[in-house]
Amino acid sequence: MSNESLANLLKEDRRFAPPADLAAHANVTAEAYEQAKADRLGFWAAQARRLTWATEPTETLDWSNPPFAKWFKDGRLNVAYNCVDRHVEAGHGDRVAIHFEGEPGDSRAITYAELKDEVSRAANALTELGVSAGDRVAVYLPMIPEAVVAMLACARIGAAHSVVFGGFSADAIAARIKDADAKLVITADGGYRRGKPSALKPAVDEALSREGTQGVAKVLVVRRTEQDVAWTEGRDLWWHDVVGKQSAEHTPEAFEAEQPLFVLYTSGTTGKPKGILHTSGGYLTQASYTHHAVFDLKPETDVYWCTADIGWVTGHSYITYGPLSNGATQVIYEGTPDTPHQGRFWEIVQKYGVTILYTAPTAIRTFMKWGDDIPAKFDLSSLRVLGSVGEPINPEAWVWYRKHIGADKCPIVDTWWQTETGAMMISPLPGVTETKPGSAQRALPGIAATVVDDEANEVPDGGGGYLVLTEPWPSMLRTIWGDDQRFIDTYWSRFEGKYFAGDGAKKDDDGDIWLLGRVDDVMLVSGHNISTTEVESALVSHPSVAEAAVVGAADETTGQAIVAFVILRGTADADDAELVGQLRNHVGTALGPIAKPKRILPVAELPKTRSGKIMRRLLRDVAENRQLGDVTTLTDSSVMDLIQTKLPAAP
Ligand code: ATP
Ligand code: MG
Repeated sequence: MSNESLANLLKEDRRFAPPADLAAHANVTAEAYEQAKADRLGFWAAQARRLTWATEPTETLDWSNPPFAKWFKDGRLNVAYNCVDRHVEAGHGDRVAIHFEGEPGDSRAITYAELKDEVSRAANALTELGVSAGDRVAVYLPMIPEAVVAMLACARIGAAHSVVFGGFSADAIAARIKDADAKLVITADGGYRRGKPSALKPAVDEALSREGTQGVAKVLVVRRTEQDVAWTEGRDLWWHDVVGKQSAEHTPEAFEAEQPLFVLYTSGTTGKPKGILHTSGGYLTQASYTHHAVFDLKPETDVYWCTADIGWVTGHSYITYGPLSNGATQVIYEGTPDTPHQGRFWEIVQKYGVTILYTAPTAIRTFMKWGDDIPAKFDLSSLRVLGSVGEPINPEAWVWYRKHIGADKCPIVDTWWQTETGAMMISPLPGVTETKPGSAQRALPGIAATVVDDEANEVPDGGGGYLVLTEPWPSMLRTIWGDDQRFIDTYWSRFEGKYFAGDGAKKDDDGDIWLLGRVDDVMLVSGHNISTTEVESALVSHPSVAEAAVVGAADETTGQAIVAFVILRGTADADDAELVGQLRNHVGTALGPIAKPKRILPVAELPKTRSGKIMRRLLRDVAENRQLGDVTTLTDSSVMDLIQTKLPAAP
């Protein structure tokens, strides 16, 4: 973004008060904001007591060497003990921790007592295989309970895991194994995806033939699909052989609060992935607190379901660490939302009586495209809180989610955070906040976020600019693995003493925060900074548009011109010039003439990362007739070929 602040174009006046009964019994009330404001570190020290420490910390934050933070540094704890054993000791061993739903329809319920046994066996197995505290273990698994068990087994022995999303290629696995210097890989023969077994082990085999991966001594293989696998004797071992024969007794050792817990590479929406390092005590404190506060989780009665993959930070913080540290009962689903039919998610909600659902805007837009009649066939009345994460949610998608999934009563929590922040940072609280479609609204208690202009001045209400975090937080990344300088340069150099998130944002007249997309994506049209998110949301609010991606392409007269790629709904005709004209005018009416796209191109698909986010930089390459940049984190690179052939020559 240059000189001028981000224009504040979109007006959204719909408001939704929290349901009275939820507000009356909410885990967290408005008081939390006051407490945290009066004594921020005291607030986090109190939240740390949600955990069970072997040695209670006496120091909350050491910020003597910024930006390298140490939280609760003289405390000691075992993360896996906090997620499993202590619930069993408290008499909840029979509570279901995981309702696993396989894509082919197989299911398993795992209680906390069973989870404790399985994690203990896996921890014993890792120790037997020579993994010790401080080592790294790469995890490349489908969405099966063993993924959670593997993560917790690493945590239990003080080794850091590095989970690689199961859809990534051999190249991506090799690069991550090499960067993290992993000693062992945990994988599976395969997993079920779109109705058939999809192999995983061949990618690991290929990755391990690459330069720089020789540090991997053993590969532990979970049997899931029973497909044939190549076998390297002396290196490859079956999980059921090695883990199965272990004792279910394992004494968890306490580690320092700053013991590395995991390295996770970011999704790669903007470029080369970064290995984000998270540690133990602070991370678990914030993952646990936010899961309790933002979802209003009642562990005795709620059934929670986060649809993210374990390969993303959402899966780490809101499948493994947050829910399990809180003793939640959760659903884990292996497969895709349209297998074997487009109602699969809603069938799962109905089957398990899911009360809290956490998913992504990309999924919600897909459900909208598939039609209202599909969720209407299922009983979704158990739902009480709905969450969103991953991208700004278009107000129309938000309203659809509330109406067609949440029976017009469930509060929606739009949670802004990043791999780097480790846990949620900006979000409504379901029993407190009057929500606004499309806004993440307010920094959570204990979190300090604001919006600044180019000169690092806080913008007034109604202004736009860059989202920054002005105080350290417990689950903050500690560094980029092996690259302290890149950590400083990427996050702490743009604005002195503030964390630069890389996202554009605005404050509305109430001071609530609206995320406006990545700073790299913001467009500069005739001297005005315009948010891609706002133009996309305006397009999506037209009944003929299911999804939209907007980019600024170099333009001789206006500096940049707005180019929109749209996916039309059901019957709309892609060659209808009149419709394209209507869409331009629709944006003009919603946001003003400056935001009218110069070109609107109907397409069949949009390029997305494997975590489902729109990759605008590739569309910008197309719109400017350039060679495509790095496509390795794209779900399906043929999408780009299709879009390029559809693109008329630039005028
Ligand atoms: P990379 O950093 O490698 O380019 P990435 O930023 O997509 O990839 P993540 O850490 O998974 O990787 O995503 C965090 C980003 O997702 C945020 O910086 C923001 O752009 C977007 N995001 C997440 N949640 C929200 C939300 N609720 N509202 C708006 N944007 C969101
Ligand atoms: Mg990012």
